[in-house]
Amino acid sequence: MLRRSNAPVAKQLARLAPQLSGVQQRIEAARLGQAVPSLGAAYAHALARWAGDPVLRLLGRPFITECYRSPERQDELYERGRSKPGPVVTYKRGGESKHNRLPAPALDVAFLLADGEVSWSGLLLSKFARLMKAADARVHWGGDWPGFKDRPHFEV
Ligand SMILES: [Zn+2]
Repeated sequence: MLRRSNAPVAKQLARLAPQLSGVQQRIEAARLGQAVPSLGAAYAHALARWAGDPVLRLLGRPFITECYRSPERQDELYERGRSKPGPVVTYKRGGESKHNRLPAPALDVAFLLADGEVSWSGLLLSKFARLMKAADARVHWGGDWPGFKDRPHFEV
C-alpha cells in the first residue's frame, strides 16, 4: 500500500536534503552571532520552519553568506561594477551599510544545494523571505525594495 511505504520514502528523501558540514555549521553559528538579536531570532525561526517542511528542505539549505562586513570590505564591494569588473552589487560605501555595524542589523542568505553548489535563486529567496517576514514583521527583505533588488539581503 502506498500509505505504508510513505514513511521509508520520506526517510530516504530527508537524507537527500542538503546539510552543512561541521565547519560550515560553525561558520554559520559565528555569523549568526554577529546579528542583532531580533534578526538572529527571525533567521533561526525561519530556518527551523524551512527545515521542518518536507518539500522546502529538499530544495536547498539556507545559510548566511555574510552578516557583519568591515568598512574596508564594503569599499571593495562598492568598486565592483565601478572601478572593478562585474555588476554593481551595492550602492553603499564603507560605513554606510547596515552590514558595517556590529551587532549587524543585516544578513545575506544563499542556499546550499544537494549537489554542493551554492544558489542565489530568486524563487528560493522569495520563499525564505516569506518565512523571515512571518517570523518577525520588523524584518525587511531586499527583494521588496523598489528599484535595485537585493534578494539575498534581510535587515531590521
Ligand atoms: Zn546585504
